[in-house]
Amino acid sequence: MVDFIEHNVRDVSEKITRIAKDCGRDRNEIKLMGVSKFHPLEMMIEASRWVDLLGENRVQEASEKRAGWSVGNKTPWHLIGHLQKNKARKALETFDLIESVDSFELAQTLDRILEKTGRESFPVFIEVNMSGETSKNGVAPASVPGFFENVLAQCPRLRVEGLMTLGPLTEDERSIRTAFSGLRDICVAMRAEFGLPLPELSMGMSGDFAIAIQEGSTIVRIGTAIFGPRNL
Ligand SMILES: *Cc1c(COP(=O)(O)O)cnc(C)c1O
Repeated sequence: MVDFIEHNVRDVSEKITRIAKDCGRDRNEIKLMGVSKFHPLEMMIEASRWVDLLGENRVQEASEKRAGWSVGNKTPWHLIGHLQKNKARKALETFDLIESVDSFELAQTLDRILEKTGRESFPVFIEVNMSGETSKNGVAPASVPGFFENVLAQCPRLRVEGLMTLGPLTEDERSIRTAFSGLRDICVAMRAEFGLPLPELSMGMSGDFAIAIQEGSTIVRIGTAIFGPRNL
């Protein structure tokens, strides 16, 4: 029933290997995330055998699925969708990492809950809106340095490990590439300015992961190409 998942992951993984090779990158520095939103828990469990990470968009859906997850299954879960402040506590209980920190208020809320619940640190990425599309969340590129400064000074429990973005909704390869190379440049600048390792660049989905890898992605977030179309 769910055999197709192994097949699809192999297929995507082979593509990643080939793209990495063609642009002179080490395949081992690229992780494959299965984005399982709107798909049943059964498919996540199967995918967890083949992917490096799992990604979910909505806290409610993920927390219901989490209830059926076995503690022995160590495949990490990342939140990749917009997080409302009133779901922050539940998100911290459900996920291993939050990729979608997109406002300083949210960062403060997360830090406050971590303090109250006695957790020393929690890994996050900062989501950056590289396309400028108003439908997308994320910190504006020009605001990223100030954002880092504020988070480092005022949210000591958040461990910023990377940046995340969504490519623009277009077929135009050049603007997709510009968005991804732009995020890489910001990441390099933030490493230098704040002395952080900042190892992860989460960018690339089913339709644009080749370009993302060529521009330095370390996490590709793949939904449709692994699980098929979503039943909305
Ligand atoms: C749904 C989603 C994906 C996966 O999209 P596909 O095109 O199905 O691969 C990746 N990232 C985010 C943030 C998403 O919401």
